[in-house]
Amino acid sequence: MPRNAQWRLAARPQGLFKPTDFAWHQEDTPPLGEGQVLVRVVLLSLDPTNRGWAAGDTYMPAVPIGEVMRGFAVGRVVESRDPGFTAGDAVSGLLGWQRYAVTPARSLRRLPDVGLPLEAHLGLLGHIGLTAWVGLVEVGRPQPGETLAVSAAAGGVGSLVGQIGKALGLRVVGVAGSEEKCRFVTEELGFDAAVNYKKTIVRAGLRRACPEGIDVYFDNVGGPTLEAALALLRHHGRIVLCGLISQYTVAGAVPGPSNLANLLVRRGRMEGFIVSDHADKTAQATADLLRWHREGRLKYRLDVVEGLEDAPVAVNRLFEGTNVGKLVVRVAAE
Ligand code: NDP
Repeated sequence: MPRNAQWRLAARPQGLFKPTDFAWHQEDTPPLGEGQVLVRVVLLSLDPTNRGWAAGDTYMPAVPIGEVMRGFAVGRVVESRDPGFTAGDAVSGLLGWQRYAVTPARSLRRLPDVGLPLEAHLGLLGHIGLTAWVGLVEVGRPQPGETLAVSAAAGGVGSLVGQIGKALGLRVVGVAGSEEKCRFVTEELGFDAAVNYKKTIVRAGLRRACPEGIDVYFDNVGGPTLEAALALLRHHGRIVLCGLISQYTVAGAVPGPSNLANLLVRRGRMEGFIVSDHADKTAQATADLLRWHREGRLKYRLDVVEGLEDAPVAVNRLFEGTNVGKLVVRVAAE
């Protein structure tokens, strides 16, 4: 059996992750039991939710100290003792921060052959594509001609949300943390406008970019951007609470928006969602995402870190805002 290397969680993080929050561990992979599959991890997804999983119980139980860090990944089956999988199959699942996963077959998803490289199942399809699609289509329920604003617009989820918005006939405004990111979403992805919240007061920037107000705000960040979107919400506007990344590394209580009254007077709706509750939408979302991608209307960009060794440092890039596109670690060549 091949030699494995893993990052195990060593301490609950405070603030950003520190290298000492993880311990590097090497061991031989154990022999497979009945119904188990050995998977070689190819690409590991680094997600803002990793921070929550390491810190405590969230919508999933906390990762126990001493256990392999939980992480979503795609890989290839090396060996299988389950009739549903054979060597070479492309799979995804919570394979963890490690080179090889020995896992029950029922925890794996076989990746459909859609004629795209494995990386597309992290950048365009999989949990990121489903999050963007479910959040915008099912929760935001946009109508053609409406104005959509999306934060963390140049990130994995946000960059897809804005492009789906364009495919659905919306006017799309992104909020992002650098000029490079604003250029990326307008010039490469076709957003109508972008606001650099680190250079402009976000409420003023959004007001200029959305003179008629905002019909749907897709929130990835919370904090002052959420407050600004609430201020500009149109009557019967919708706020999709996808993520609140500005709060994930903050200790103690965080202030809420001071203007929730706008939700009342504008007859608005704010609704959170967790993508794993919507697995039944995978086929529908995948069909739409692939169609738009093939029509050239939906691009994805990966921000690739080379080598599992760098995962504990690289994951902080999500909170520092230095990733453009979906942040992943290449663990092995495909
Ligand atoms: P991204 O690729 O968007 O990376 C995170 C980005 O957040 C950074 O690049 C940075 O961009 C921005 N950011 C970081 N800190 C702050 C801050 N303090 N204030 C404002 N912006 C900040 O990550 P993902 O696409 O993976 O995730 C985006 C969001 O979606 C996250 O909140 C995540 O938790 C959520 N999510 C929710 C799911 C669900 O089921 N509800 C499923 C998957 C993701 P910038 O430079 O623009 O600041």
